[in-house]
Amino acid sequence: MRYYSTGSRSNPVSFAAAALGGLAPDGGLFIPEEIPSYPGNVKSSLGTMNFFDIAFETIRPYVRGELPDAVLMDLVHSAYPFTAPLIPVGDRLVLELFHGPTAAFKDFGARFMARAFSYLRRGEDKPLRILVATSGDTGGAVADGFYGVEGISVTVLYPKGRVTPLQEKQIAGLGGNISALAVEGSFDDCQALVKAAFADEGLRKRVALSSANSINVARLIPQAIYYSAAAGKAFAGKTDSDGEATPRVPGMNEHTAANAIHGVKAGSPITFCVPSGNFGNLTAGLYALKMGAPIRGFIAATNINKTVPDYLASGEYHARLSQATISNAMDVGAPSNFERMTAHWTLETLRGMIRGVHVSDEDTRKTIAAVHQQYSYFLDPHGAVGWRAVDILSAGEAPVRGPLAVLATAHPAKFAETVEPLAGPVKAPAAIKTALCRIAQARTIPAELSALADTL
Ligand SMILES: *Cc1c(COP(=O)(O)O)cnc(C)c1O
Repeated sequence: MRYYSTGSRSNPVSFAAAALGGLAPDGGLFIPEEIPSYPGNVKSSLGTMNFFDIAFETIRPYVRGELPDAVLMDLVHSAYPFTAPLIPVGDRLVLELFHGPTAAFKDFGARFMARAFSYLRRGEDKPLRILVATSGDTGGAVADGFYGVEGISVTVLYPKGRVTPLQEKQIAGLGGNISALAVEGSFDDCQALVKAAFADEGLRKRVALSSANSINVARLIPQAIYYSAAAGKAFAGKTDSDGEATPRVPGMNEHTAANAIHGVKAGSPITFCVPSGNFGNLTAGLYALKMGAPIRGFIAATNINKTVPDYLASGEYHARLSQATISNAMDVGAPSNFERMTAHWTLETLRGMIRGVHVSDEDTRKTIAAVHQQYSYFLDPHGAVGWRAVDILSAGEAPVRGPLAVLATAHPAKFAETVEPLAGPVKAPAAIKTALCRIAQARTIPAELSALADTL
């Protein structure tokens, strides 16, 4: 597969160059020259294949000729000792994406990327420095994914005071090859700093730089896996029974649970509601749809940072400053993957695949409390934005038909400060308990390129 910059259709590069380069030299984002289709036999067996095989088949066409099959198979096995359970909660499904080591969906992308980089850099002796801007969860996932990987070091930039204490420990508590910079500014400032560093030729001569934001294709592509796996399962009329906080319905097996609770027969394509910020997750979902997974469409659920829902409604794109909310990993006013979505698809095509909805903090809080009260299920603030977005559409003129899954992008214990006053004590998974014991050690810098350059 060759990759182009969203900035121009000339000078295609390999997967290795796109992944290790991060941003294209012209400042654009890399996109695959085409979105491949699953072979027929894969498409028809997504509902019965295991997670590793779906991961392998999903990534394979994007890395053909660069990651040999045996390497890719090893890689997905080592990257994914956890899966993404699809569980019934009330009248809908929840796709739990928080079973990885940092308890948010970004583990899926970051763990694949770290392993792919390590393979692609084999035999190199110049160390690689990865720069990553985070609004909260990316930094932890990337730090964890790359921790201890030889020949690669990571600098995470996060907005000082705007991430939770746990997120800060996940980002700045590892040490070793991971450094953390607390930037005096917003997430957008952090992202702009990374962009500026890439555009600085002097700096790039001195340090081999790469990025690990969701702008990186090596993070984006593996995020398509869980969409295909979940869509296949729902299409086969199945759900999972091993969710973190799954309410048990006595006397129901997986199959009847899916049908009885949702009134949905096997053979219906699913709609995914995706709590979105930088739109990497949703873009990966669009890839899964285009590859042939049985997906009806998407709901893009945002908090008050509603740049994309506004674009879908008005047809006009206005990037803006991000505003702080309780779903802080989605506090993005200028979503970087927007460029990628519009490079692949026209406004009309996007409107055919995605409905945009935004949700206030107040409604997010109410939803966390209400869903817990009704179903004994804990949503984190990001998942709650997704849940509420579905409520809003359901109350409107065109409710969603067929099976619907809300993506639970983080474990509720990750945002205990918000969730517990609304829904009571949340049991933390082991990964979170371990991180809480670490001590965050970050350096504070102003939002200026010279300050960043000094640290590299
Ligand atoms: C990053 C993140 C999001 C937003 O994902 P994008 O790919 O940036 O749209 C949503 N929820 C959580 C918990 C996240 O960490």
